[in-house]
Formats: sequence, structure tokens, C-alpha cells
Amino acid sequence: MVHNIGELVTNVAGTGEGGPLGLRRRAAVLIEQGEIVWVGPDGDAPNADRRIDAGGAAVLPGFVDSHAHLVFAGDRAAEFAARMAGQPYTGGGIRTTVGATRAASDEELRATVRRLHAEALRQGTTTIEIKSGYGLTVADEARSLRIAAEFSEETTFLGAHVVPTEYADRPDEYVGLVCGPMLTAAAPYARWIDVFCERGAFDADHARAILACGQALGLGVRVHANQLGPGPGVRLGVELGAASVDHCTHLTDADIEALASTRFDCMCHDGGHTTTVATLLPGAEFSTRSPYPDARRLLDAGVTVALATDCNPGSSYTSSMPFCIALAVREMGMIPAEAVWAATAGGARALRRDDIGVLRPGARADLIILDAPSHLHLAYRPGVPLIRQVLHNGVPR
Ligand SMILES: [Zn+2]
Repeated sequence: MVHNIGELVTNVAGTGEGGPLGLRRRAAVLIEQGEIVWVGPDGDAPNADRRIDAGGAAVLPGFVDSHAHLVFAGDRAAEFAARMAGQPYTGGGIRTTVGATRAASDEELRATVRRLHAEALRQGTTTIEIKSGYGLTVADEARSLRIAAEFSEETTFLGAHVVPTEYADRPDEYVGLVCGPMLTAAAPYARWIDVFCERGAFDADHARAILACGQALGLGVRVHANQLGPGPGVRLGVELGAASVDHCTHLTDADIEALASTRFDCMCHDGGHTTTVATLLPGAEFSTRSPYPDARRLLDAGVTVALATDCNPGSSYTSSMPFCIALAVREMGMIPAEAVWAATAGGARALRRDDIGVLRPGARADLIILDAPSHLHLAYRPGVPLIRQVLHNGVPR
């Protein structure tokens, strides 16, 4: 039993004070075997054999980070410093990490994932999607996903991250490798398939072919889309029924209309959702000193928005969802409630999950107790460690 909760974010629309966060005051949550079994007023709380006193603080669902690249070796601090000295970001540095990752042992890769996974958990992230994409050989992509699957059930095959150097003049051949033996080796460890659809990476035809091969094997679709410039990624994602299109920094009106056209009515959130979620990754714009995506424009068009870290050693080496919430509020036109929803329930939508990102009976008991009286403090007090306690599957961490 978590009791004496001053402000409870349930993300159940129509609850308590209403609004997307479904806020309740003076509440309690009862947990049994990793699952929430009761949510209600503090005074009505049933007996429990173990009690955690929230001390009047805010409690919310654990963050759902639906976009992270944790399987890699080395870092790119020097590249970051060069960028801050004025060099532009092109995505080319991915190949540096590919070299280091291929040279690393399984145990080195596993240690990095373990460290970042623990770092994210300490900051309130109870679900984190993990992509491959720094191996780019059949064996290295398969082992990246095998290691990722030790830490998360949300694993994504990103063999189409960039065309590796050895295939630089034979991109068609590399696409054949990704669709064939690489996908076959990776699929047993992956739930999703993703492509970096961008100038300098994969064009629409290559991306469509790769994603369709993954779909044929039962993998769900996600796309890295419209990060560095306008392009076909978002519309391709919508065409293929992607769960999420990620980055969405450079969108045309047609891109927004395509996303909005996937909207359907749903009682679980104010009015409905879009089948394809726009996942915004402001850590990438922060770390590449680039203009931020316009979340306000997406939200006003009725598009469902998620926030995620894009944690990776090149363009966004943060595992902090609170940091992303603060950026989204300060730089992207979101109000705090929208940003908190996007970092919890929005991430769950982007992973097509309804058992996380929400605090209601039947949901997984993933919740965080803040060192603050309100969710507002996540954006209001940027850079401050506000996560007092994390419960993951009902277990205090
Ligand atoms: Zn990414």
C-alpha cells in the first residue's frame, strides 16, 4: 500500500479532477504481486501488510521511455565538444560507435546496458525500449538484441541505422542483407523493427522494403523520421501503420494531416488517440543545438505525442525523462500536464501498451514517488533529482 499521496497522477481520463492526467488528491494505491488492485481516497484504504508513506508527495506512473539506443561501446564526448564549437551534426558519427561496438565483448556491451538501465530506473523510468543498430552485421545485430532482451521486453531491430562503411557503394546489397539473414537472426529477440529514414541514411523505398519484411515476420513498425530535414519518413510510417514516428522535428502540413488522419475515438483518453504516435526526442535537439520540434502544432492537430530520451552516445546522451519533460515545456510549447502525460501514457501508446503509463486496477505496479508535492515540479525544477522512490513491478528499487 502506498498511502498519504498528496497528488496522484493516474492518467485515467474522467478520474478525480479530470483532464488527461486524471489527478486525485489524498489518495492511496494498493498493490498485489506486482499489479495495482485498488486506487482510491486515502481514508478508504484497505488494510495492507506493508505500507509506504508518500508523505503528502506526488505519485505518478513510472516513465515509459519508448526510444533508446543502449547497446553500444565507447562514447563521443569529443564529437559533442566539436559540435558545441560550431561543427554541424550529420549523423555520420554513428559509424564511429559501430566500430567500437563491433570490437567490444558481449560482457562489455552488457555492462553498458546494465549501467544505463539502472541509471534510467533511478530517474523513474520503469519501461525502456532498447534498439540495436550499432552492430550492422548479422552476428553483431543479433547479439545486440540478445543482450537488450535481457533488460527489456521492448526491443527493436535497427539494422537500418546507417549503411555501414563496407557497403557504402552498395546500399542495395546492404538492404538485402538487412531484409534477409540479419532480420532472420534478429527477429527472435525483437518486438519491433525501425529504420533511420533520412537523407544520408535510408530513402523511402529502402525503408519501406525493410519495414515490410519486418512486418511479414510479425514485428511492429517504428520509424526515425524527419529529424534532420523534411522527408518521407512520417508519411511512410502512417502508410505502414507504424506505432510511432520518432523525432518529427521538420514537419509539413501534409505530415501533420497524415498523422491526424489516424485518430480514433477512445474512452481512455480525452477524446481519442492517433494510431501512429509522434514521439518527440528533445534531448537530440538539445545535444545537437538544433531547433526543437513543435509539439504545440501536433497537439493542436489532435496528434498523440510521446516524449522519449533517444539515449545514445552521439546525439543525445541522456537517460533522464524529467530532463526531457522540462525541455518539452520550456522549448516545445507543451504545458506540464501534457509533457508528463507524454512521458508516461504517451510512451505506453507508442509501444501499444495499456498496462503501463497508467495507474488503475490491472495495471503494472510501476510508480514513482516524487520529492515534490506536484507533477508540475518536474518542469518547474529542472535538473533537480526529484525521484524519491521507484516501485517497479511493485518492488521498491
Ligand atoms: Zn534514435
